[in-house]
Amino acid sequence: MIVEAIEEGQRALGRLLEGSRRATGFTGAGISTECGIPDFRSPGSPWLRNRPIDFQVFVSDPLMREEAWRRKFTMDDLYKGAGPGRGHRALARLVETGRMGAIITQNIDGLHQAAGVSSDKVIELHGNGTYAKCLSCGKRHELVDVRADFERTGAAPECDCGGIVKSATISFGQAMPEDAMARAAQETNACDLFIAIGSSLVVYPAAGFPIQAKRNGARLVIVNRDETELDDFADLVLRGDIGSFLAPFQGG
Ligand code: NAD
Repeated sequence: MIVEAIEEGQRALGRLLEGSRRATGFTGAGISTECGIPDFRSPGSPWLRNRPIDFQVFVSDPLMREEAWRRKFTMDDLYKGAGPGRGHRALARLVETGRMGAIITQNIDGLHQAAGVSSDKVIELHGNGTYAKCLSCGKRHELVDVRADFERTGAAPECDCGGIVKSATISFGQAMPEDAMARAAQETNACDLFIAIGSSLVVYPAAGFPIQAKRNGARLVIVNRDETELDDFADLVLRGDIGSFLAPFQGG
């Protein structure tokens, strides 16, 4: 069923949540657009202005590493100060009240945690862009320090161990995080309601989770402005603005 009317959609989602034992959330860039962070594929996306730098290129070419950090800091400046939106707050409330076991996210903006969801309930498939990590020893590096070093020396940062420091996100060509993938599969299999929000559902393997949930017998809800390839497969499609559909679920 495809619903475009906001109140009708809210009621339909409310009924599915009422009848659910355990829901799993799945989010993409669309949940953060009302917070001022553009998504990836909508027209005019700043993320597509430059060809993404592949992981292998980042590792092998110091000049491209410097370029990657320049781009990263430019984007961070554009979206600094972005806070959680209605969608993040609604999901935080569903987790807090025990209706939702966890949130699987493709996002790297940390806004689920900023909305109050504890880190162990946020499964980040594509990492987190709010800090950096050494590719050799795994040590966490704070962006403010990385940036200060970069601006002082003009060189891409290195760890004390000599390893390459990279934003803690998963780049094109980089292996998916095994632990997050395993936990996402567990949450997908454990739920009877899977709610995919703000994703074009074209990035794999992430987009495999809604399919897996449905095949496992869970109900599938898709909340998105544009059509997705999985709409025909879903039990309920709320087609329109995420914040408007999810606003009543934020609680008091
Ligand atoms: P996408 O850009 O492919 O799709 C986003 C979808 O959200 C679109 O189909 C669009 O119609 C919908 N949308 C946007 N704003 C909406 C709104 N207010 N209400 C309803 N729908 C809305 O994003 P994706 O599927 O998440 O894949 C992009 C990849 O890029 C992800 O893997 C992610 O890691 C990364 N990314 C992350 C961020 C972030 O962390 N905020 C931002 C851009 C890109």
